[in-house]
Amino acid sequence: SSLPSAQQNTLLPTQEECYVEVAIKVPLHRSFDYLVSDPKLAANLEPGMRVAVPFANRQVTALVLARKTSTELPKDKVKAVLKVLDSAPIIDATHLQLLKFTARYYHYPLGETIFTALPKALRQGDDIDKTSINYIQLTEKGRALPTLRAKKQQSLMSQLAQSGKSPVTEVKALGFTKATIDALVSKELAEISIEFSSHWRDNDIKVASKPRLNTEQAVACSAINQSSGFTSFLLEGVTGSGKTEVYLQCLEEVIKQGKQALVLVPEIGLTPQTVNRFRRRFPDTPIMLWHSALTDNERLQTWRFCQKGSCAIVIGTRSAIFMPFLSLGMIIVDEEHDASFKQQDSLRYHARDLSAYRAQQHNIPLVLGSATPALETLHRAIEGKYHLLSLTQRAQTSSDNHFELIDIKGQYLQAGLSHASLAYMQKELGRQKQVMVFLNRRGFSPSLICHECGWLSDCPRCSTSATYHKSMRRLVCHHCGEQTAPPMQCPDCGSTQIHPVGLGTEQLEEALTSQFPNIAISRIDRDSTRKKGSLEEELERINQGGARILVGTQMLAKGHHFADVSLVIILDVDAGLHSCDFRATEHLAQLLTQVAGRAGRSGEPGTVLLQTHFPEHPLLQDLVNNGYQHFARYALQERQETELPPYSHLALLRAEAHDLSLVLRFLTDLVPATRIPKIQLLGPIPAPLERVAGKFRYQLHIQGADRGALHAFVAQLIDYLGSHKLAQKVRWNLDIDPIDM
Ligand code: ADP
Ligand code: ZN
Ligand code: ZN
Repeated sequence: SSLPSAQQNTLLPTQEECYVEVAIKVPLHRSFDYLVSDPKLAANLEPGMRVAVPFANRQVTALVLARKTSTELPKDKVKAVLKVLDSAPIIDATHLQLLKFTARYYHYPLGETIFTALPKALRQGDDIDKTSINYIQLTEKGRALPTLRAKKQQSLMSQLAQSGKSPVTEVKALGFTKATIDALVSKELAEISIEFSSHWRDNDIKVASKPRLNTEQAVACSAINQSSGFTSFLLEGVTGSGKTEVYLQCLEEVIKQGKQALVLVPEIGLTPQTVNRFRRRFPDTPIMLWHSALTDNERLQTWRFCQKGSCAIVIGTRSAIFMPFLSLGMIIVDEEHDASFKQQDSLRYHARDLSAYRAQQHNIPLVLGSATPALETLHRAIEGKYHLLSLTQRAQTSSDNHFELIDIKGQYLQAGLSHASLAYMQKELGRQKQVMVFLNRRGFSPSLICHECGWLSDCPRCSTSATYHKSMRRLVCHHCGEQTAPPMQCPDCGSTQIHPVGLGTEQLEEALTSQFPNIAISRIDRDSTRKKGSLEEELERINQGGARILVGTQMLAKGHHFADVSLVIILDVDAGLHSCDFRATEHLAQLLTQVAGRAGRSGEPGTVLLQTHFPEHPLLQDLVNNGYQHFARYALQERQETELPPYSHLALLRAEAHDLSLVLRFLTDLVPATRIPKIQLLGPIPAPLERVAGKFRYQLHIQGADRGALHAFVAQLIDYLGSHKLAQKVRWNLDIDPIDM
C-alpha cells in the first residue's frame, strides 16, 4: 500500500505515523518493524495481538511486541502490516514478559520462543475462538449404574462414574469408540454438553469427603495456605506420604477463593488414576488436562478456557507452564525432579525453573513436591530460599520398606534373577501378592552377537547397538529409529550361530512366563503400550489383581499406585554406578527410590531387592541404609567440593555434522586463547553417544562461577557463532542448565 498523498494529509488532522515491532518465528535474535498504514487499524493495535506481515516473500503470522511512532529502518525498506488478525490481545503483558524472560534466559530467539509457546492453531493464524469442546457426563438415570448387556457400554458408564464430566476426546483416548458413546447417549444414560459453566467461581465449591491430615501434612498445608505473596515450598515427602493429599487440600483453598491453579506433572505421571483423584475430590469444578496427545483444536480450546477463567485447575505436562490464566492462584510441580520437565530440543526450557519465575510474576505460592528432590531444589531449600516441608511417614503404612542388596557376582541368573530373588518371588506369589520386576531396557535383548566371530548388531549410523525385538522380528536402533531384519547369517563370517546378548523386558517376560507358568504376567513398556488406551487397560487389569507379576521399564516406576505389590526387584542397578555424567548417581538414586516406592503402598511394608555386582558401593550402601534424604545431602557436599551445579552454573554447546573434522574445528575455534574470569571451558569432548544417525556429536562445557558471568559469556558466544563461517555447515545448539551431559 502507498503512503497517503500530500493532499490527503492536509485534509486530515496530522496523524502520527504508526509502526509496530513484531516477533516472527525465525531463528534470529531480533525483532522486526512494520508500518501500519491504515490509521483506523493503528488506533486499535496493541501488544499481544497477531498480525499478518510479508517476510522473505511469504506471508507470516507475527506477534505485536510494541507500537511506536518511528523506526530506525530507512523509509523505503519498511513494509506494511497486511492484516490484523485479532480484535484483542491473545496474550497479556504479563504473559509476554514471561516469554521474553524465557527467550533471554535460554538464549533462544524471541520469535521462536513465543511461537513455540503458543498453541499451533494460533501460530497458524487461526481465530482464537474457532473451536469448542464436547463434554460427556452421566445423567441421573446413568448415575444409578443400571446393568447393561453391552460390556463396553457398562465399562464406559463406570469410567464416567469415576471421572465425572470429561471431554469426549479424553474418553476416546481411553479406547472408547464413538459407537459406545452414542449408545449411552441414546439410552439417556449419558449426555453431551458443549461448555463448562464458567460460573464455578460464583458457586460454592463442592468437595467430596477427604481424609483427616496427619500432623506433618497439616503443618505443610497450613504453611502453604497461610503464606502470602510469592513463596516457594519444597514438599519433601517419601513415596506414599500423602503429598497429593496436601496438594488437594491446598487447591481446595485456592479454588474456593475463585482462583485458578496449575499442576505440573511428569509426562508419564498424567494417568487417569491421578486425574480421577482430582476430579473426584472436586466433582463440579472444571479440571482440564494439557499434554502432547491433545489435538490442535483441543489445545486451542483448553488454552482459551484457561485464559477466560472457565477452567479452575489445569493438570498438565511441561508445556502447560505457558498456559494463560485469568487469575492464577498457585502452581504445584509434582515430582519436581523428573527429567521430563526439561525440554530436550529446540527451546530447551525447564518448566520447574520457569514456574518459579511465573509464581513470582503473579505473586503466588509455588509448591514443588518430590520424594527425591533434585539436588538443585534441595540446595535452595537448605539455603533457605525455599521453605522445606517434610513428610517423613507413609500415610497408610506404619513402617518403611525393607531393602536388601543381592550380590550377583559369579551367580547363575535365571531369567535375569538370582536364586535369592526367585525364592523371594515364590514366597510373595504364594501369599497371593503382586511382584514387580523392574528393568530399564525394552526389547528382547540390547544386541545380537555372532558366536563364531563376535560380530555385534551395531547400528550402522550410531555408536550404539541396535536392539533386538523378537515379536516384531526386527533390529531397532533406539537412537535413530533405524529398523532392519535380523540377519539369518553373520554378515562377517556367514555363521548361523547368532544369539541375543543381554536382557530386555520382552525377554524377561518370556523367561518369567516359563518360570511361573500359572501366573499372569503384565509387561509395561513403550512397546507393549503403543496402542491407544492400552496402558490404562493394563493398569486397570493390574489393579483388579488380574496380573500378579509386573514387568516393566521406568513407565512402571512413577506415580502409579499398586496396592498389592509387596516385592519389588530391580535387576540392573550397575549401569548407573559407572557413568561419566556427574548427575548419573543422583538420577540412579532417584530412580531406585521411586521404583522402591511402588512396594508396600498400603497395609504392610514391602521388600525391595537390588541386584548388583557392587553391593559394597558407597552410594548403594548409603541409599539402602539411610535413604534418599541422607544420600542427597551427602551428594550435595560432593558437588560443593568439586564446584559442580548447584555450586556453579553450566551451559552446554553441542555441535554435530557428518564430517568430524568440521565439528572439531568449529568447537575448538570457540575456545578463546585467553582466560575469561569466572568462566571455565571444557572440551570439545565427545557427546555420550558420539555418533547418532550418521552424525558426529561433540560438545563444549561452559561453566560459570555465577549465573551473571555465564550468561554474559553465552550472549557473546551467540553473537560470535552467528557470524562464524562454519555455523552453516555444523548444526549446533545451546543448552542452559543442561540435565544430561
Ligand atoms: P504421595 O502423593 O506422597 O505418593 P498420596 O497422597 O498418594 O501420597 O497418599 C498415599 C495414600 O495414602 C493414598 O491412598 C491416600 O489416599 C492416602 N492418604 C494420604 N493422606 C492420608 C491421610 N491423612 N489419612 C489417610 N489416608 C491418607
Ligand atoms: Zn560371525
Ligand atoms: Zn541408530
